Formats: sequence, structure tokens, C-alpha cells
Amino acid sequence: MDRRLFIGSATAALALPGCATTLARPAARTGCLPPVNVAADRVIRTVAGLRPYRAAGFVVRAEALGDKRLVHNYGHGGAGITLSWGSSGLATQLGLQGHAGPVAVIGAGVMGLTTARLVQEAGFPVSIYAAALPPDTTSNIAGGQWSPFGHYRGSAVTPEWRAQFAAALDFSWRRFQIIVGDDYGIRWLPTYTESGGDSGPSPLDAYHPAARVLGAAEHPFPIERIVRFDTMYVETGRFLRQLTRDVQIAGGQIRVRSFATPGDIATLSERLVFNCTGLGARDLFGDAGLEPVRGQLAILLPQPEVRYAFTGEAGYMFPRADGIVLGGTFERGIWDVTPEPAAIARILESHRQLFAGFRCTA
Ligand SMILES: Cc1cc2nc3c(=O)[nH]c(=O)nc-3n(C[C@H](O)[C@H](O)[C@H](O)COP(=O)(O)OP(=O)(O)OC[C@H]3O[C@@H](n4cnc5c(N)ncnc54)[C@H](O)[C@@H]3O)c2cc1C
Repeated sequence: MDRRLFIGSATAALALPGCATTLARPAARTGCLPPVNVAADRVIRTVAGLRPYRAAGFVVRAEALGDKRLVHNYGHGGAGITLSWGSSGLATQLGLQGHAGPVAVIGAGVMGLTTARLVQEAGFPVSIYAAALPPDTTSNIAGGQWSPFGHYRGSAVTPEWRAQFAAALDFSWRRFQIIVGDDYGIRWLPTYTESGGDSGPSPLDAYHPAARVLGAAEHPFPIERIVRFDTMYVETGRFLRQLTRDVQIAGGQIRVRSFATPGDIATLSERLVFNCTGLGARDLFGDAGLEPVRGQLAILLPQPEVRYAFTGEAGYMFPRADGIVLGGTFERGIWDVTPEPAAIARILESHRQLFAGFRCTA
């Protein structure tokens, strides 16, 4: 998964942190943080979503569909928010070269909306066609950490794909930074990550500014080794709402329409079509390499004083204006989007123990 600092991240089986009694209480108040108040009666909703995972990595590729050019942009697993601008940047570079006239985008999740915006920015009229619109997309469910986590298997990707990944990451990193703020619901937060040890330099280091291993007196977690770094967090509902408005303000059309086969797509009048259908591409284009990886979340009442995030054996905690997002399941091949009470209870209990074990509070 190539996520060097994230050893105990969301793939973990929600084991409980086991070092609570071995760490001393931080001497300085500067290392203390407000704990998250985890209790069943503070849960405001639970949700399960399906990450569009491909072991061989996301697909950005052009092909002919009759007299049309079809450009795929799907399969981003647990990193679709992170990669959105960059992957859509690659797709539009590929599709728009030599094109004239209107453009169609299929899908209104984060890939469809960012693709549509980049098409508009390049000066082309765009129509989005999608079976479902925000807030009813997988993209709305995402926790929203800017981190390229859980979207490929190292042994299954090619050097060419790795080059695409690196380019997408770089573009996204820059693009998200210039829209940080309340309009798009994006902010920087310090992130405390349970880390299994140093595995040497990684190409991802550039995306973990100010990363360092903290001493026990510098954090309150009942955990032996914590790495702190800064990254961006996206309040996905607000982000997608703003992107939708941006598309419309720039004259884009958005239509609810479902496509069953590539033949349906061939009936569109646009000669350039971007396929941003996420997991839908499995049936629509027969991509059997695309599979669901279910993630379940419990969202707690907002706690504005919590201005840090956590990932580790307990799962993950991302604080957002619309609630505290607790997650941590990564369930391959499961299609059911009904949250399971037992899994939600485990997520709550692992986080309850984590925050109850704080060695000091701010
Ligand atoms: C629990 C969870 C947590 C996550 N956390 C993060 C995170 O912290 N950071 C991160 O970067 N990523 C995260 N992700 C991953 C991210 O949500 C996905 O990678 C991303 O949403 C995929 O976006 P998409 O636009 O490709 O797909 P979607 O959001 O699923 O959008 C697909 C669009 O295509 C349309 N469509 C599909 N099939 C058809 C069809 N046949 N005809 C017409 N329209 C069709 C749909 O209606 C929809 O509009 C998380 C995912 C989950 C489930």
C-alpha cells in the first residue's frame, strides 16, 4: 500500500492500543489535546460505502467508441478524494488534445465533477450525465483525508502506472492547497499516526510536511510510537456541493441518466466522453478487476475544539464541521451498504478506549 507512516492505519482490524500503562504523562501542557467524546448516544449517523478498488491501480486511458473518444477515469479505491484533481488532470490532458466541441462526463462523484471543472477551465462546454448526484455518491461518504491510501497492490502495478500515480498526486497536492478554506470545506490539520517504525525514505515523504516522531511528552496518546505530520482534510459534502455549483455557474448542464452498456453511451451527441463512473465501471465496461472494498463509519456530534486527526490500530478519527468521523474497516468484496451494528460497536469501542486512555487533556 506504500503508506510508510501509516502502519497502523485503516486496514487494521481495530485491535485496541496496548501500551496505555507504559508511557509517562506528558510533562508539558503543550503535548496535551482535547479528547473526542465517544459514546453511543453521541452517534448522529452510521454509514457504509464501497471504495472502487483495483489491485492494478486506477484507470486513466483513452479508447475509441465508434466515432467518439472515450477516456476512462475510475478505480481510485480509498484515495479518490486525494487523487481527484490529479487523475482528472491526466484524463483531460489525454482527452482534450485536438478536440473541438462539447464534452460529456459520465458520473457526478468527485472524479466526474473535477473532470468537468477542468474541461470547463480548458474552455469547452460540458454536460454531466449521472445515475446519482451528490449527496448520493460514494464520494460523499469518504472521510476526506488527503492521503493516497488503499488504492492498489504494489506487486500488481506497472512502472508506467506508477508514473501516472506520481503525476496525479503532485497535481492534486497543489490544486487542493489553492482552494483551502470554508468555501470548499478544506483545512490543514496535524495528524497523529500510530507508526510501526521507520522503513526509510519514501516518495510520499514530500506529502507529509513537518513529519516527525514525537517523544512521549509531546502527545497524549497511550501509544508507544506516534508520528505527527500535517495534511489536508476535506469535508466531502461541502466540497462536492461547491464543485457542483462551480460546474453550473460556468454553464455546465447536469442530467440524471443511467447507462447500461457502452452502446447507450454511443447515443450521446458529444464526441468526447469521460467515464467517471467509479465502481459502476465494473458492469458498464466489464472490468472484473474492479471490486468493492467496504468501509463503515460512525459519525459523532461535532466537537469544534478537536483540531487534530488520528490514524492507528484503533481505526481513524477525522474531525469535520459536520461531525467527528470514526472509521476503520476495509472489507474486500462486500457489496452490502448497510452498516453492521457489530462493526460500528467495535469502531466506537476502540476509539472510546483510545481517548479514555489519554495521558493528559488540553
Ligand atoms: C468509507 C470510505 C472512506 C473513504 N475515505 C477516503 C479518504 O479519506 N480520502 C480519500 O481520498 N478517499 C476516500 N475514500 C475513497 C473515495 O470515496 C472514492 O475513491 C471516490 O469517492 C471515488 O469517486 P468516483 O467519482 O470515482 O466514484 P463515485 O463517487 O461512486 O461516483 C460515481 C458516479 O458515477 C455514476 N454512475 C455509476 N455508474 C453509472 C452508470 N452506469 N450510468 C450513469 N452513471 C453512473 C454514479 O451515479 C456517480 O454519480 C473513501 C471511501 C469510503 C467508502
